Amino acid sequence: MDIPVKKCKKCHEVLHSCKLQCPICLSDDLELTTIKGEGTIYSYTKIHTAPKQFADQVPYYVVLIQLDGLNVTGRFIGEDVQINDFVVLEDIKNECYYFKPVSN
Ligand SMILES: [Zn+2]
Repeated sequence: MDIPVKKCKKCHEVLHSCKLQCPICLSDDLELTTIKGEGTIYSYTKIHTAPKQFADQVPYYVVLIQLDGLNVTGRFIGEDVQINDFVVLEDIKNECYYFKPVSN
């Protein structure tokens, strides 16, 4: 599953899709595109005490994923989280990315 992103037409920086201006070269000439929703786990944390709206989902993992040119935060589907594990995007719900591990 691909992730919608913006790409700066001037310096080719990959940006989150909500950006209106490139933080590198300050150009506002951005184009909507997608990148592959696959990457590696850079960091993670396990949430035991969540905000009210997520309280029924604890415990859950919030993961930082390194994609091709962009880092995103999301949720991890599963229990066995390891730094550097390869994951793929499984779903996008309420603007949240859900990643699952790829078994070898
Ligand atoms: Zn730029």
